Amino acid sequence: MEPAYDVIIIGAGVCGIYQLYRLRGLNLNVTVLEAGSGPGGTWYWNRYPGCRFDSESWSYGYSFSPELLEEWDWSEHFAGQPETLRYLEHVVDKFDLARDMQFNTKVERCTWDEDSRTWTVETADGRSLTCRFLMTAIGLLSAPTMPLLEGTEDFQGPSFHTYYWPHEPVELGGKRVGIIGTGATGVQLIAEIADKVAELKVFQRRPNWCAPLHNSKITPEEMADIRSRYDEIFARCAETPGGFIHGPDRRKMADVPEEERYAFWEKLYASPGFGIWLGNFRDVLMDSEANAEFTEFVANKIRERVNDPVTAEKLIPTDHGFGTRRVPMETRYYEAYNRDNVQLIDVNDTPIERITAKGVKTSDQEYELDVIIYATGFDAITGAFDRIDFIGRDGRKLRDKWSDNPITYLGVQAEGFPNLVTLAGPTGGSVSTNFPRGIEVGVDWATELVQWMLEHGYSRIEPTAEAEEEWSDHVADMYSMLLMRNAKSWFTGYNSNVAGKDKTRFLIYNGGAPRYRRWLDECAAEGYKGFVFG
Ligand code: NAP
Repeated sequence: MEPAYDVIIIGAGVCGIYQLYRLRGLNLNVTVLEAGSGPGGTWYWNRYPGCRFDSESWSYGYSFSPELLEEWDWSEHFAGQPETLRYLEHVVDKFDLARDMQFNTKVERCTWDEDSRTWTVETADGRSLTCRFLMTAIGLLSAPTMPLLEGTEDFQGPSFHTYYWPHEPVELGGKRVGIIGTGATGVQLIAEIADKVAELKVFQRRPNWCAPLHNSKITPEEMADIRSRYDEIFARCAETPGGFIHGPDRRKMADVPEEERYAFWEKLYASPGFGIWLGNFRDVLMDSEANAEFTEFVANKIRERVNDPVTAEKLIPTDHGFGTRRVPMETRYYEAYNRDNVQLIDVNDTPIERITAKGVKTSDQEYELDVIIYATGFDAITGAFDRIDFIGRDGRKLRDKWSDNPITYLGVQAEGFPNLVTLAGPTGGSVSTNFPRGIEVGVDWATELVQWMLEHGYSRIEPTAEAEEEWSDHVADMYSMLLMRNAKSWFTGYNSNVAGKDKTRFLIYNGGAPRYRRWLDECAAEGYKGFVFG
């Protein structure tokens, strides 16, 4: 029997929206299953105060439609969540995509049937849908993780993970608020609410190296200029490793005279966006001596900005150098700690013992709170896959295959799971870049692959184990070049709150967007080498 759909896409975020758009162009029967009540993915869920891009807005929008580029005005260089969600909703409306999206539809199990060469997708509302190709657009950071602390259910006031920030407004004014976690999310939230709440208690385990975002409004004249340069902007993003407008300075740090080097760093620290991380000397991220010198430069910036020297030292990471974990971009984050109503609690000195009915109990005291916010991060990339039961060929489970180290071929498919295209899956190049830039490459490639298969009369695709191994070795090699490999963060698959994931796993592709594109292009040019078709 023919399956109900040619393609089912799971997820209606940045990736799923574009994948649906592209498959429409092939006249296929496609549906998107989305757990949320609307499109937007990350930007639908994360509604916490201060949530915004660290990518330049105008480098984040889709590039595929000149008309869309022409009509959409960004209001800030780094847009906030409400604006980004509006943008994605606009794209969905403009291209009439919602008619092929099923919201409030949570996928629970996907099972491959070899005889019919179809996937059966079971949803939480008890339905079974069949398709030829299954594509996952389930996000990198969509499986939020709570801390493994006792008593989270006991707290009497409102408490939530930032990812599940309520849709209705949350009144924080005049409240005693506790935040656990100081990653990119916590940093944005703390800076945003510090001057609005009565008391803010920040429970910090490991600080991060943060740098100023320098956001600003976009004037109509600036928007007109940006619009006239879109081709140039996207071409620039295509040539940088991270898919941003910022690319590395390839001079060796030590070859640049000290005075010039520091002047360059001062300029980076005063400039908007990720330049300080991705536009720095290349060896700052690869060579421990270069990294140590720049790290000290940033440490001194923190010391200058935080009045209390003890607090300043607590905010300076000691377990990793600058840029070896994701750099949170901030707006007056460090200055928040100069306020009398903000207190930094180092949980290494006084560990959290439990959450109580009234607040947070550390080894030292009980902090009474009105609201507790968990900014404790995500079971990155594979977490979203683990929450769905993917059962492939011969009853193999994806969860088991990836339990130790997630391996794929080119980040797009795992051996043993025919016709399952893991858009933005582990070890893919799309996941380590300015997301829409990477996603457009991945989605375009996957769309051309499907088209090619249809033209050649194929209905089944699976990578070989050898191809998967070759790609995995390459992924590991790319990690070996970067200091990042030694830092514990979601970039290295680390999450202390998930059993079996408090260790290094090679989750993302670090070879850079241009190199990733070359791998994809070569694979396609050689008749999709590494895959077996049927
Ligand atoms: P995260 O970077 O993983 O940070 C989680 C924080 O929670 C860390 O400080 C972690 O401490 C802490 N934590 C976890 N469990 C804890 C426990 N049991 N006790 C105490 N502290 C605990 O997560 P995130 O901040 O949500 O950011 C994740 C990613 O989302 C970012 O790296 C970024 O890629 C993306 N993001 C992007 C933007 C943007 O574009 N502007 C904004 C927000 C997030 P340890 O460090 O000690 O583990």
